[in-house]
Amino acid sequence: MMRVAVLGSTGSIGVSTLDVLARHPDRFEVAALAASSSDGRLLEQCLRHRPRVAVMQSPDAAARLSGALRSAGVGTEVRCGGAALEQCAAGADVDAVMAAIVGAAGLPSTLAAARAGKRVLLANKESLVVAGPLLLESARSSGAGLIPIDSEHNAIFQCLPPGLEPGRPVSGVRRILLTASGGPFLRTPVHGLRDVTPDEACAHPRWRMGRKISVDSATLMNKGLELIEACLLFGMEPDRVEVVVHPQSIVHSLVEYVDGSILAQLGNPDMRTPIAHALGWPERIASGVQSLDLTAMGRLEFEPPDVGRFPALRLAREVAEAGGTAPAVLNAANEVAVAAFLAGRLDFPGIPRLIERVLERHRNGPATDLGAVLEADRWAREHSDSMLARAAVANT
Ligand code: NAD
Ligand code: MG
Repeated sequence: MMRVAVLGSTGSIGVSTLDVLARHPDRFEVAALAASSSDGRLLEQCLRHRPRVAVMQSPDAAARLSGALRSAGVGTEVRCGGAALEQCAAGADVDAVMAAIVGAAGLPSTLAAARAGKRVLLANKESLVVAGPLLLESARSSGAGLIPIDSEHNAIFQCLPPGLEPGRPVSGVRRILLTASGGPFLRTPVHGLRDVTPDEACAHPRWRMGRKISVDSATLMNKGLELIEACLLFGMEPDRVEVVVHPQSIVHSLVEYVDGSILAQLGNPDMRTPIAHALGWPERIASGVQSLDLTAMGRLEFEPPDVGRFPALRLAREVAEAGGTAPAVLNAANEVAVAAFLAGRLDFPGIPRLIERVLERHRNGPATDLGAVLEADRWAREHSDSMLARAAVANT
């Protein structure tokens, strides 16, 4: 029996994970659930999956959840706060951790799971972007398994030979082709991007996801973060990772070998496939995802990305080249900019503009310890906030 902690259980990835786990009660036990503040949804999940522990970030939400569980006669222990989350991720009674918290907020618990040698199912790409070398080193020294959940990276993982060590290059690989749907504004002219609303940005044509990653997909920053993620996970230089727009989202990514062979992983766009792959690995288990009908698909198209309209991809590539604390700064500025866009305080083109201005002011340094990375994250948030407050980037 594999005991699984699902961190970020009320989100899009969390819900899909619980769906897959519930299909295999003979293999998996839901050991712990964690979420930010939605106690009503966590209560429903606790009633259904009966975890031993539930962790909430908000103390008020934790108190409400605790009371409701007591009334229902359910013995789940409710805990609260960041330290409880890290203890939960590293706990002796957990074998695998689904890291599905959104943003850099997921870093401490992801790192705790990697340090404790768990099987880490990595959906939280931001933690890798922010502290990649540290996370990989922690996994290597503890022997933790690191299996990517991001559909592209999971596809690449599936196309690479077995025995992969996180962060170490695989011999014989020429390049990686990272596919991108192009997001909801693939055909929107540049002048039209000024007026797009948060709801339009979150209406992704292929995937149903949380709002932050949906905006990232619309700006193509998601692909930028994924470019950095791919370089780190597979030990590749940025110029050997190419982004290809593929609007159908059926080919999830490809690996080209030196002999000219290209291996791809295909499937319906449903995150339960990579989740089931990572949970069952090295075995294959059912995910509930429908068979792909290729003849109904008809066409699979590929085109280059337009970095003129989507400068976030260019910024991320520059940051991937630079390394050091620059990725942490890119990520933090992006989190602030996306939150401001969702709150109506920044227009859509303002997102990459803010990030670029913050990066211009950043003095890059080595990301050798957690302190340096967290300081870069703090600095970038502070600078992004003050630029927003001065309206230096808003609607210019
Ligand atoms: P979401 O917004 O739907 O869910 C986020 C979850 O994290 C929620 O359960 C929320 O309560 C929890 N959370 C947020 N802040 C927290 C905190 N400080 N402490 C504890 N819990 C907190 O997001 P999502 O779409 O499920 O994405 C989650 C992660 O997976 C992101 O890093 C995203 O980039 C990645 N990812 C998502 C998809 C997808 O299809 N949704 C695909 C690939 C990668
Ligand atoms: Mg992805």
